[in-house]
Amino acid sequence: MVIRGEEGIILSVKPMVYMLLFMLMGLAPVVWFRHLNEGAGAARTLPVVLVSQTERKMYRLDLEDYLVGVLAAEMPARFELEALKAQAVAARTVALGRMKRFGGRGSRYHQDADFSDDPNESQAWLSPKQLRTKWNYWEYGSFYRKIRRAVAETRGIVMVYNGKPIDAVFHSTCGVGTEAAVNVWKHDVPYLQRVPCGVDSHSPRYKQQLFFRWDDVARRLRISVAEARTLKIAEMTQSGRVLRLACGSRYIDGQEFRKVFQLNSNAVRLEKTPAGLRMEVTGYGHGVGMCQYGADGLAKRGWKYQQILAHYYQGIGFRKIKY
Ligand SMILES: [Zn+2]
Repeated sequence: MVIRGEEGIILSVKPMVYMLLFMLMGLAPVVWFRHLNEGAGAARTLPVVLVSQTERKMYRLDLEDYLVGVLAAEMPARFELEALKAQAVAARTVALGRMKRFGGRGSRYHQDADFSDDPNESQAWLSPKQLRTKWNYWEYGSFYRKIRRAVAETRGIVMVYNGKPIDAVFHSTCGVGTEAAVNVWKHDVPYLQRVPCGVDSHSPRYKQQLFFRWDDVARRLRISVAEARTLKIAEMTQSGRVLRLACGSRYIDGQEFRKVFQLNSNAVRLEKTPAGLRMEVTGYGHGVGMCQYGADGLAKRGWKYQQILAHYYQGIGFRKIKY
């Protein structure tokens, strides 16, 4: 029945608006649920909740499926399979330590989430949609299968020390051998010690050459140009990373120095010239734990993922989670 007249129309529109709102409210959980289930694999392991900050979305995933997105984000897919497997085990170990059901602290972005995709908080993670942007059309199929294989062939395997999952930190390129955790974070970790590497020179960030004029050095360190010219390395780690620098009567922390000059690492050599300060930086990252390019280098030399991990994380053991 058609209702005519001003009031009639208003009366007939209102219930329609309410009905539409009601329908949308009803649909919301369906849409939500669909997002949560995206990417779920066939075999169930452990359910995890991920909050994607970049996509503003929540995902409820299987742990092993979550690791595919982590691995794709944290290591180049063209790396050797054994290096990808080593990274998969490291990623699983880190993930386990963060999961709420095992007493992990979860994510600060959402109370129900185990992880976020913010690399400053959790591990980096890319959704299948984001991977289609990262990898081109021709690469996608083979890269995705390779990453999935690395995860599947290490299914459930984690690293332990004294029966507990380890803090499986890693970095891109050590360049000068890895660094003991105590020299970076001021607390000693038995399995995070200095180990030789020497197989990571194929990293695009193996060396960094920089030059800073004296007035720029002075500005960055908030000292005078005369003081800047007295800058020298006061203390180095055994692997060759700068712990402290001296400048006039004061000291500058090596980590602070790296930040101020935005250096790839604090394995730095200084050379003074009349115009300024020349720096040669080796490697990329903090240098603690597994060196990713080193893992790739060792895999190229025939090492298996267990050997690679046991090299960078000294004295650790392996356990398999029973799903
Ligand atoms: Zn290395």
